[in-house]
Amino acid sequence: MARAAVLGRLTWRVATVTALRDETATARTLTLDVADWPGHAAGQHVDIRLTAPDGYSAVRSYSIASVAAGNRIDVTVEQLVNGEVSPYLARVVGVGDPLEVRGPIGGWFTWRPAQSEPVQLVAGGSGIVPLMAMLRARSAAASAAPFRLLYSTRRPESVIYRDELRARAADSLPLSWAYTRAVPEGWPRPPARVDAALLAGVTFAPDERPTCYVCGPTAFVETVADLLVGAGHDARRVRTERFGGS
Ligand SMILES: Cc1cc2nc3c(=O)[nH]c(=O)nc-3n(C[C@H](O)[C@H](O)[C@H](O)COP(=O)(O)OP(=O)(O)OC[C@H]3O[C@@H](n4cnc5c(N)ncnc54)[C@H](O)[C@@H]3O)c2cc1C
Repeated sequence: MARAAVLGRLTWRVATVTALRDETATARTLTLDVADWPGHAAGQHVDIRLTAPDGYSAVRSYSIASVAAGNRIDVTVEQLVNGEVSPYLARVVGVGDPLEVRGPIGGWFTWRPAQSEPVQLVAGGSGIVPLMAMLRARSAAASAAPFRLLYSTRRPESVIYRDELRARAADSLPLSWAYTRAVPEGWPRPPARVDAALLAGVTFAPDERPTCYVCGPTAFVETVADLLVGAGHDARRVRTERFGGS
């Protein structure tokens, strides 16, 4: 049974792009219909494989943004300048195009509705994607687990899932921002990276024993995880997902 599940995750499945939605000028959500999709937990990711006519292929990982719903999964891809795969997925791919998908992958960086402890989410850039899946899963399960989100983004226009996040904040999600390059008009502080003072001000305190999920570019994740542990959070409750880059 376990072997069959592992083999299932390692199998490449044919997926069809069924919808596209621009989230920002550089990030796009792709809705995929994946043949025989086995379902997934919030926080898991898929591998997507592109194959050129000459047989050259490239594989990249993308977090699943959506809650489990039949054969449908959403991924959100931020286009990296000079990237090999992300510009194709974020700009070129069209509705009806086939892709190859493998997954779901990952067991540690997941949130499951049976968890009732406080949850601190910390996103850097496109690291919001699996954390949005967790917020959506919490709503879908009508979970009462307290969640907070700190979202670090370069500028206001770079915010992915802007409208949904605004709605969730209005509906009682404590949501804080760190703008690193440009701030919204009237923002009380200049652009700044997440630091110990900001974390102390807006996240659950260590004695509230939250599980912390930190996701984004590698350097961001390592800095934030170190700050959380330095502030007194138990390292075993700080779960991280590194998207790559410096
Ligand atoms: C588990 C996991 C989940 C991921 N989920 C997502 C997701 O939901 N959405 C998403 O957009 N990306 C996600 N990524 C990143 C994604 O897999 C690719 O690395 C990214 O799309 C770049 O691929 P590329 O082929 O365009 O760039 P490449 O051609 O591989 O790289 C181009 C350049 O960009 C640098 N680079 C690579 N990745 C990053 C990065 N994340 N930040 C900054 N610089 C980088 C490289 O070092 C290189 O210099 C995830 C990565 C992992 C490991």
